[in-house]
Amino acid sequence: MSELHVAVVGGGLAGLAAALECADAGATVTLYEARPRLGGATFSIRRKGHWLDNGQHVALRCCTEYRAFLRRIGVERLLALQPRLRIPVLAEGGRRAVLERGRLPAPLHLGGTLLRYDHLDLRERIAAARAAATLRTLDPADPRLDGETFGRWLRAHGQSDRAVDALWNLIALPTLNLNADEASLALAAKVFRTGLLDSNDGCDVGVPAVPLQRLHAEPAAAALEERGGRIVTGARVRTIDREHGGLRLRFDDASEQADAVVVAVPHEAAGALLPPDVLSPEPLEKLGHSPIVNVHLHYDRPVLPEPFAAAVDSPVQWLFDRTDAAEVEQGQLVSVSISGADREIGVARAELERQFVPAVERLLPAAAEAQLLDFAVTREPRATFRGRPGQAALRPGPRTAVPGLYLAGAWTDTGWPATMEGAVRSGLAAARAALDGPCPQAREEALETAA
Ligand SMILES: Cc1cc2nc3c(=O)[nH]c(=O)nc-3n(C[C@H](O)[C@H](O)[C@H](O)COP(=O)(O)OP(=O)(O)OC[C@H]3O[C@@H](n4cnc5c(N)ncnc54)[C@H](O)[C@@H]3O)c2cc1C
Repeated sequence: MSELHVAVVGGGLAGLAAALECADAGATVTLYEARPRLGGATFSIRRKGHWLDNGQHVALRCCTEYRAFLRRIGVERLLALQPRLRIPVLAEGGRRAVLERGRLPAPLHLGGTLLRYDHLDLRERIAAARAAATLRTLDPADPRLDGETFGRWLRAHGQSDRAVDALWNLIALPTLNLNADEASLALAAKVFRTGLLDSNDGCDVGVPAVPLQRLHAEPAAAALEERGGRIVTGARVRTIDREHGGLRLRFDDASEQADAVVVAVPHEAAGALLPPDVLSPEPLEKLGHSPIVNVHLHYDRPVLPEPFAAAVDSPVQWLFDRTDAAEVEQGQLVSVSISGADREIGVARAELERQFVPAVERLLPAAAEAQLLDFAVTREPRATFRGRPGQAALRPGPRTAVPGLYLAGAWTDTGWPATMEGAVRSGLAAARAALDGPCPQAREEALETAA
């Protein structure tokens, strides 16, 4: 049997994971990426002598496949994973609480911190602990869960508006990229169970200690090339056609053949690339998008005394100290991450500055004394698909009706919301399907032999 030639379209985490998995299994791999760089939705830019990520990325200890991918490309140590969950939760006027895990087994590891959580009153804290215990009994794969919102479920389980805002949305927004009132209960149950409720340590937070470019794109490219993989950037695939003996990828001025193709592009791009009988455009449109905005504040001195913190009663959701990771030499770089940013995505930079500079000062009194050296905004209007009820039925699995053609991407059917973990899992699933399925050429050879 001749060697399997796999083409991977898309150089985000899904495509990189798929390409590496195939190359590690001995396939000949070519990765095509439309942009001049790899990394997809995770990338960095240079600004005023330091790095800015397109948006803060965070992974939890429970992101096992993502962490294994980092290990495979030799950079697991560059994800600064806290030894034990600890999230300071700030509010204006110096009010502050901490969410941290204890040493008891799950779910008791969070009992103490919930009962001490000062942003809620005692009744709300007890109700939250009860709701968490019930959430732990839900099966995220139960299709009924994808028929309602997390917010509705929370309220039916005794959660006040205050508890939704000041506790549940602290986790729902950054992990689901949607407010609890819009997010699918199935995705919320997946995240809260896997991350917080099923194990004692799954919730520990990991933050990149280097720019995203150095965490993903560069080491993954090196690992792939070391395995003999070929990477072609600036190569936008226009269509993928079936042809005798395989599949043909067409570019503007060239075409290439492959035995198997893993399409690992965002859902809005997948529709244009593949014939409608392979992937119908309607469900892809329904998946929609949810935006993320980050504002980056460079101060002349330290203002945030923690690696990161969350905030309540503020337009600020989460703040991260990016000074070392961004290679900032003077002062401190604080990145504020805003998920589910429908309101902020279209707001002009000057207006965001007018809103967020005072908001940060109200949370961090030291910021009011400091000089702001720079204010920058990064916007991702299509950061993730919109994880609303009904999403599960819109997300295809890795196999298609066309032999040799496979799908990957955080938007495919992984059971996870659009995350780095979901992207890597999707890439692995597509790669394994490609490696399992006989390539058309091999099938023809087998048929010829049989004849
Ligand atoms: C600002 C922001 C913050 C986020 N924060 C987090 C977080 O904290 N934690 C977390 O887990 N996740 C987070 N995410 C989500 C996570 O980054 C994504 O889910 C994941 O990176 C998606 O990977 P992917 O490979 O599926 O898709 P992508 O990264 O979108 O990769 C697809 C690639 O396909 C390429 N492409 C498209 N069309 C073609 C074509 N025709 N030919 C060739 N190439 C093509 C694109 O250029 C792109 O590089 C965040 C996302 C954003 C944008």
